[in-house]
Amino acid sequence: MNVSNVVMGWRRIRKGNFLLGSKCRKCSKLHFPAARLCKKCGSRELEDYRFKGTGKIYAYSEVRTASSGFEKHVPYTVAIIELDDGPKMTAQIVESGKVHVGMKVESCLRKYYVDGDSGIIHYWIKFRPVG
Ligand SMILES: [Zn+2]
Repeated sequence: MNVSNVVMGWRRIRKGNFLLGSKCRKCSKLHFPAARLCKKCGSRELEDYRFKGTGKIYAYSEVRTASSGFEKHVPYTVAIIELDDGPKMTAQIVESGKVHVGMKVESCLRKYYVDGDSGIIHYWIKFRPVG
């Protein structure tokens, strides 16, 4: 994952473009986060693509030992989401009791962490059950 793509994607999200990736104009492969080079055909001709934001859980794991700064959130569930548009992405599952493979989910913006020094609240994409 290219850091500049993540930063660019985050700026777009802040402008209201939720789950924005890219689509190859030559082979139609979808990328999330947005890519500058198609992973399938190598083309540099990519355009913005707004994902539906829905998908299903492909695999998941409950995190009981968190990395530094996230200790107070354990236990929490992290899943690989297979988006309805095709690509897979990793995200935390929220607002859910028990999860299962194949469970329908939708994206949402939720608090990611609070910067200890500045107090700035950072948000990121998470997924919650549909309905
Ligand atoms: Zn391509």
